[in-house]
Amino acid sequence: MAKITLSNLRHSYYPHPKSADDYALKQIDLDWQDGGAYALLGPSGCGKSTLLNIISGLLTPSEGQVLFDGKDMTHLPPDARNIAQVFQFPVIYDTMTVYDNFAFPLRNRGVSEDRIAERIAEIAEMLEVSDMLQTRAAGLSPDNKQKISMGRALVRDDVNVVMFDEPLTVIDPHLKWKLRSKLKELHQRVRATMIYVTHDQTEALTFADQVVVMQEGEVVQIGTPVELFDRPNHVFVGHFIGSPGMNVVDCELRDGAAFFHGQQVALEGAVREGMTASPQIGIRPEFVSLSDNGISARVRKVADIGRHAIVETRVGEQKISLVVEGETPMQGDEVFLQFQPAQTRLYCDGWLATTQEGAQ
Ligand code: ADP
Ligand code: MG
Repeated sequence: MAKITLSNLRHSYYPHPKSADDYALKQIDLDWQDGGAYALLGPSGCGKSTLLNIISGLLTPSEGQVLFDGKDMTHLPPDARNIAQVFQFPVIYDTMTVYDNFAFPLRNRGVSEDRIAERIAEIAEMLEVSDMLQTRAAGLSPDNKQKISMGRALVRDDVNVVMFDEPLTVIDPHLKWKLRSKLKELHQRVRATMIYVTHDQTEALTFADQVVVMQEGEVVQIGTPVELFDRPNHVFVGHFIGSPGMNVVDCELRDGAAFFHGQQVALEGAVREGMTASPQIGIRPEFVSLSDNGISARVRKVADIGRHAIVETRVGEQKISLVVEGETPMQGDEVFLQFQPAQTRLYCDGWLATTQEGAQ
């Protein structure tokens, strides 16, 4: 196992890239610590698979380096990198039994049949496929085929990293949550570095200790699920994580104070020096409340989702949602909104521009 470093990485699928838009990866500098459980989260097309394929060696980056424990691997082929990769769709040998599918990567490395049997028993039990070991893979359902793909990646205990590229795409919804928690458990048992790629925040947040959020070929934030929820570093992270996502509304900035529809809004702390362009207030629906005074808003929609309701309001043209417990207003009502100051952040050009009170 190894620490993986991506340094000054850029990648374009075009032979002569001209503008930033020609790059699938714009500039990536990233360390993946040995033994970490990572999720790589971002919308379709943001460059997740490109990044994985550069780590595994299926792609050579246009610029920059891939290092394993400081050793340059950038131009080595995949089989010299000792990596296991699981793809969106199952990659297995249909004509072989499940047992032989699992054994294949181990036999390739000259592992003894006794050790192979031991390892397969362990992995098959974890994936709940022990009763299928003698079945031919061709006859399996897509779910089970994908489990076998995962098993083939996990059966080796000497890999530098196990990478999963949206592995639950073909899995039945009711099995998804089960496999997801299984993977988490597997990580805790095998302690290999794992990178789990997904566009689904729930999958990312349940699996990972650290989530790397990508947008348009760039990393916008790396953090624990709690950090991403609490202090999104970019409005994109705020929108993408949370349900509904963070409210982001245009505001005015005068002498370091934020004004929204003429009223001053207390921020979590001071606005960073020099950050003034396109100011916006960001606050999560969980930290907006109804009150007797505050910002006047009109209720547009009320969605009752059990213990609480999501109330969508408009302040002028801008949308603000809030989570309401207890009595909910009606569509069309005028209400007054309060923002919890410690949770009210300022963003400039999309990036977090406030410091926390007491912090630097
Ligand atoms: P993701 O996995 O996040 O959905 P990808 O890494 O597959 O994103 O793609 C990133 C960008 O690179 C997209 O704009 C995509 O269209 C482009 N791209 C991906 N693969 C190729 C390819 N083989 N040739 C040209 N463009 C590609
Ligand atoms: Mg992809």
